Amino acid sequence: MDGKGSGLRPSARFRPILTDLRRPVNGSLEVFPQEGYTNIPEEEGANFWLKCGCATGPERDTFRRKSTKAGRDSEQGGEMLKSKTFLKKTRAGGVMKIVREHYLRDDIGCGASGCAACGGAHEGPVLELQPLDRASSLCPQPHYLLPDTNVLLHQIDVLEDPAIRNVIVLQTVLQEVRNRSAPVYKRIRDMTNNQEKHFYTFTNEHHRETYVEQLQGENSNDRNDRAIRVAAKWYNEHLKDMSAENQLQVILITNDRKNKEKAIEEGIPAFTCEEYIKSLTANPELIDRLACLAEEGNEIESGKTIFSEHLPLSKLQQGIKSGTYLQGTFRASRENYLEATVWVHGDDEDNKEIILQGLKNLNRAIHEDIVAVELLPKHQWVAPSSVVLQDEGQNEDDIEKEEERERILKTAVNEKMLKPTGRVVGIIKRNWRPYCGMLSKSDIKESRRHLFTPADKRIPRIRIETRQASTLEGRRIIVAVDGWPRNSRYPNGHFVKNLGEVGDKETETEVLLLEHDVPHQAFSQAVLSFLPKMPWSITEKDMKNREDLRHLCVCSVDPPGCTDIDDALHCRELENGNLEVGVHIADVSHFIRPGNALDQESARRGTTVYLCEKRIDMVPELLSSNLCSLRSNVDRLAFSCIWEMTHNAEILKTRFTKSVINSKASLTYAEAQMRIDSAAMNDNITTSLRGLNKLAKILKKRRIEKGALTLSSPEVRFHMDSETHDPIDLQTKELRETNSMVEEFMLLANISVAKKIHEEFSEHALLRKHPAPPPSNYEILVKAAKSKNLEIKTDTAKALADSLDRADSPIFPYLNTLLRILATRCMMQAVYFCSGMDNDFHHYGLASPIYTHFTSPIRRYADIIVHRLLAVAIGADCTYPELTDKHKLADLCKNLNFRHKMAQYAQRASVAFHTQLFFKSKGIVSEEAYILFVRKNAIVVLIPKYGLEGTVFFEEKDKPKPRLIYDDEIPSLKIEDTVFHVFDKVKVKIMLDSSNLQHQKIRMSLVEPQIPGISVSADTSNMDINEPERKKKKLQK
Ligand SMILES: [Zn+2]
Repeated sequence: MDGKGSGLRPSARFRPILTDLRRPVNGSLEVFPQEGYTNIPEEEGANFWLKCGCATGPERDTFRRKSTKAGRDSEQGGEMLKSKTFLKKTRAGGVMKIVREHYLRDDIGCGASGCAACGGAHEGPVLELQPLDRASSLCPQPHYLLPDTNVLLHQIDVLEDPAIRNVIVLQTVLQEVRNRSAPVYKRIRDMTNNQEKHFYTFTNEHHRETYVEQLQGENSNDRNDRAIRVAAKWYNEHLKDMSAENQLQVILITNDRKNKEKAIEEGIPAFTCEEYIKSLTANPELIDRLACLAEEGNEIESGKTIFSEHLPLSKLQQGIKSGTYLQGTFRASRENYLEATVWVHGDDEDNKEIILQGLKNLNRAIHEDIVAVELLPKHQWVAPSSVVLQDEGQNEDDIEKEEERERILKTAVNEKMLKPTGRVVGIIKRNWRPYCGMLSKSDIKESRRHLFTPADKRIPRIRIETRQASTLEGRRIIVAVDGWPRNSRYPNGHFVKNLGEVGDKETETEVLLLEHDVPHQAFSQAVLSFLPKMPWSITEKDMKNREDLRHLCVCSVDPPGCTDIDDALHCRELENGNLEVGVHIADVSHFIRPGNALDQESARRGTTVYLCEKRIDMVPELLSSNLCSLRSNVDRLAFSCIWEMTHNAEILKTRFTKSVINSKASLTYAEAQMRIDSAAMNDNITTSLRGLNKLAKILKKRRIEKGALTLSSPEVRFHMDSETHDPIDLQTKELRETNSMVEEFMLLANISVAKKIHEEFSEHALLRKHPAPPPSNYEILVKAAKSKNLEIKTDTAKALADSLDRADSPIFPYLNTLLRILATRCMMQAVYFCSGMDNDFHHYGLASPIYTHFTSPIRRYADIIVHRLLAVAIGADCTYPELTDKHKLADLCKNLNFRHKMAQYAQRASVAFHTQLFFKSKGIVSEEAYILFVRKNAIVVLIPKYGLEGTVFFEEKDKPKPRLIYDDEIPSLKIEDTVFHVFDKVKVKIMLDSSNLQHQKIRMSLVEPQIPGISVSADTSNMDINEPERKKKKLQK
């Protein structure tokens, strides 16, 4: 971006002067630094240029073109400078003097193809000369749309419809949107990137004829409205000159009554978004995608007021300051739509959690909203209801019934169980997102208003208007919330997208990705533009600061079908008789440079997400499966960790180096195992593997002696039919010695790197810790073992590991695995953190005082940061400001922890869905199972054959209640005359319950032991899977 050939460097032209008055004048701010390293305070207005400088995509391109052009023009005196000076308080309390240089130009194109007046000013014109006739009954001639800020902000869903094309987005509007909503801003950018949409960004603020100065007494809103009208007027005149016969028009779309009136007075055709969309008679389906925004006096149906008013933000802030109200995150209950908790922000231990009960107290808050609550007086406090209540009301506002239900919640309870109880008085921040779910079609014939039931049970049902109810029934759809008026039982929303048929594999995958917030769109052009150009080869420059290790006998060992190979290993004997072991990790940070669009996107994604039959990459495929993947027989860049060890696995030396390797073999675990075991094989690769395997066993033994835990989880793997991709078999993952061999060296490399980066950067090393669980977490494990006459000690990780090792039963070999599965459930989550923000680094599960992630940079962003830190530490790469900013690093960790958690949930949901498909095709089966937990009215069992966990309920609606006695101390559950303990072996019948289309699930019933009236027969033919009443089971925890 150096404006080559244009005479002047653009940076010299558009540099604003930022002056910190506390320091000497410093005019040397680099406006066009290296990609992504900008750190300029965000200002509106003139900074648009700055933003362009570090922006990606079309803005950047536009800028490149314009800046060079401006350079040329300036030599001819073709531009005009406006400058403005003002003072601004900085966050640190200082005062900053900002001089805005604002260049006006006359070479900005209108974007319409075939415009002779603008000629070459716009390369690749965006707007079509003959915009396809959209058959608007309001404006029959061809036209472009020019929406104002609020229309873009609130009606983005309808604008995204493929039917809407040829739209002019003014710079004024884009800046306002950017300031108000980052997600909408991104969606607009995506549309301007999409050539089929013909969205054109017009830089009206820098156009000589469309720039307007703020008038005295005019606020900036009014000024911007005027700027929009001026641009619309200019366009109409400009286009008149260009196409007399075409009669092209530009139509202002605004929902602001005053603005629209003024526009019409000034001769600009203007409509509200609703008027315009409704005039498109050929596309009636677009109406569904309109957000229904409450205008004054236009609330849908007057009706009576149900909810109390939300207080304005200023009042809420006052109240929070004075302690009258508490601020917190609203968490709706999954099981009871009339109940929620608010997690109060801050450190007041007493009032951490406030319970809310009843529609009026929930007062229109939606899950994840930041709300202000008022505590109710103590005599109104309630206890959590532990009742399962689903909102199954009809399409009506039947509040009386609701109140009746609320009374059920308030059953008499022990005073000790009462919790601080409150009500929502206002919303501080909405956290709405588009929701996946299904339409519950109204019973009223011809009705356009229907209720939408989100898949996430914590989200209330949403009322939408649609004419396509019949088409949308039985489909997964996306709906966005527009608002929740005081007189409406449900929030109002609008239809956004039809994802496809319920139960369809692709549709369900899309749903689970959306619901777990997994970014999964194709990588944008801007991101892809930072990939290396193909054909790629290693250049001399790449070899700088890099060791050539291509002669080493390196190989990789992975699961079958692995295409993103992060790691490779070697082991050889040195002349001094010691062993040299190398772990070589893909050098992803060589390709992903800090701050560019590729880096930002990878950081946002945080991790690759593995679903049963799909992988959502963190980095584009060219890197993940090719250039970074350490495949055999090609030269690949690596980051190597090399140890000199004794034959007894004592580390004598550790060193790190960037390298180039040439792997000699990509093996599967089974292949590697076979080589190790085969006496006939003695080639270099095999010798190397044997050496690694021998050392790994010693390392593992030593690690376990120190107290590292070896826990179990029943991991399931599906065998997919290679043609239909249906799961045909379900198997628990088999572990070989070689799995453990690779794992051992990865752990060792991670620990070595963690030590090194922490040594070098004590304040901003990215590390990973695993906190020890609080003792109470272990209660369930200790009790369960005790009921089998075994003692589990949990004082330290070492004690736990030892007692798990001792816990063996000759007559019950699976017991040990069960104990380890249960122990896993007692653990805390491991998390990434910044070393400067925390004191406790300990990794409990690995019994290591320090740990990090270095070995999987293709699929984990944390590893990329660790690579960058390590590269700086050994002088192989340079640093950048964000890398050494501990607050930035802490923010990054927060996102990574969130993404990893979501990836895990998405993966589980994918396994659950495929398990359902499997049992759908398999029909009803009976299998052996073990009890993992006993509950008040159910047992949770594990079926080892399928690695499947499920709940067997003992209370069913419309059936006589069995005699249940639950003992929390043992724990045990007595049903009639049979007592169930944890780890008892039972036999269960498994089938798919499809009675609730939205939430299909695996259902389990008890076969053995036989309890009259409870157990079902092992005969698998005579059961009615779809018996609708069976879905309404109650789980009381
Ligand atoms: Zn033009």
